[in-house]
Amino acid sequence: MVSQESQRTQDECIRELIDYLKIMATDLFSISVIKPKVRGFVCITTHPDGCAAHVKEQIEFIQSKSKIQGGPKKVLVIGCSTGYGLASRITAAFGCEADTLGVFSGRSYNNGRPASPGWYNTIALENEAQKLGFYAKSIKGDAFSNATKQEVIDTLKAELGPVDLVVYSLASARRIDPKTGEVYKSALKPVGKAFSGKTVDTDKKIVTEISLEPATDKEVMDTIKVMGGEDWKMWMHILGENELLAKGCISIAYSYIGPEITKPLYRDGTIGKAKEDLENTAEAIQKILTPLNGRAHVVISKAIVTQASSAIPVLSLYVALLFKFMKEQGTHEDCIQQIYRLFASKLYNHVELETDEANRIRIDDLEMQTDIQAKIQALWNTITTENVCELTDIQGCSNDFLKLFGFGMPNIDYEKGTTIERDFSN
Ligand code: NAD
Repeated sequence: MVSQESQRTQDECIRELIDYLKIMATDLFSISVIKPKVRGFVCITTHPDGCAAHVKEQIEFIQSKSKIQGGPKKVLVIGCSTGYGLASRITAAFGCEADTLGVFSGRSYNNGRPASPGWYNTIALENEAQKLGFYAKSIKGDAFSNATKQEVIDTLKAELGPVDLVVYSLASARRIDPKTGEVYKSALKPVGKAFSGKTVDTDKKIVTEISLEPATDKEVMDTIKVMGGEDWKMWMHILGENELLAKGCISIAYSYIGPEITKPLYRDGTIGKAKEDLENTAEAIQKILTPLNGRAHVVISKAIVTQASSAIPVLSLYVALLFKFMKEQGTHEDCIQQIYRLFASKLYNHVELETDEANRIRIDDLEMQTDIQAKIQALWNTITTENVCELTDIQGCSNDFLKLFGFGMPNIDYEKGTTIERDFSN
């Protein structure tokens, strides 16, 4: 018979052994249980399996839809790892059977810290595309730099040839001018006059008032440098000079207009000035593409939850109301649904392209419907911390936000440890 004393000793030994094995396993494979750690509008942890599942979910959505006819076959996506760029790449690869080259900036895993979501997303996308026999390669680097542009040129020349779709989907807070080396930082500020308005912390679900002073002229110019059209034009020039734009090539860049509520900070603010510049650049790019019978367009898309949009105050509360009413109406679209509709009903499938008076493609049509906007406007002033969960879809936004980092995916056991070390196969 085992005495109580020796039973305790045995239990302790087993516990110590388990702890020791856990440490060994952690040291050998960096196996760890990863939980979300949200700090403001970013999550500082990422779940690799959750990110892969999120990419797979988007691929399966595209595979569940009809194949897109007349779609692109060789595609370059600049800003390919998250949000609209990732959805564009998935739609091109799995909806049009295209070979894709992507460019993104993403942090690798390091010292027990998981990589950025874009890192895991891109590995997952490459794996899934390669399984089906498609070319899918990604260049990790600063898309604004000459070095990254040259790497893309060299890769296209050696491996893929001229592309018939170029998607420009960068969202960045800073840019180093490749000619001068000067660093420009974008600002999120009103222009001309100060702004006060409501916003919400999507994680904590707290509604607050924010006040922002108007941007200086330098801040406006710097934001245009970062998020305007200069870099898109540089990309198209270098691709054209190297004869890497195929006949009939289309190039698109994403922009946003949005409602009156967000206008003082978004469309009339620093970011709106940059977007105007981007939209005007389409004309210059059209000149590069006209001899090839190609087209350049800015696509005005719907507000969704991405890493970039989560950083914009006021927009977060607007999006929470927008989601509620669009979901109620059955017109809500997430990132991949938007981009499938863009490809299938605007760009390809042999449809006649409709643009607005400024030659922009509008897929924000459902968001901007008068009844949806009227409902948002009517509720806007009544939203407080006390009623934000009841009157808006803040929970849906919060879920979408966590999904960006691989959390909240069905069929992932978040209590189980996983390895953070995931690498590219090529
Ligand atoms: P996102 O943050 O999800 O994606 C940004 C992408 O840019 C990522 O792939 C990232 O790796 C890449 N990137 C950023 N800086 C880079 C650099 N220096 N070098 C290489 N890659 C870099 O953002 P998103 O919301 O998908 O935004 C993409 C575009 O769509 C932006 O122009 C944005 O204004 C526009 N847009 C977004 C929304 C929205 O609600 N999210 C709505 C309309 C338009």
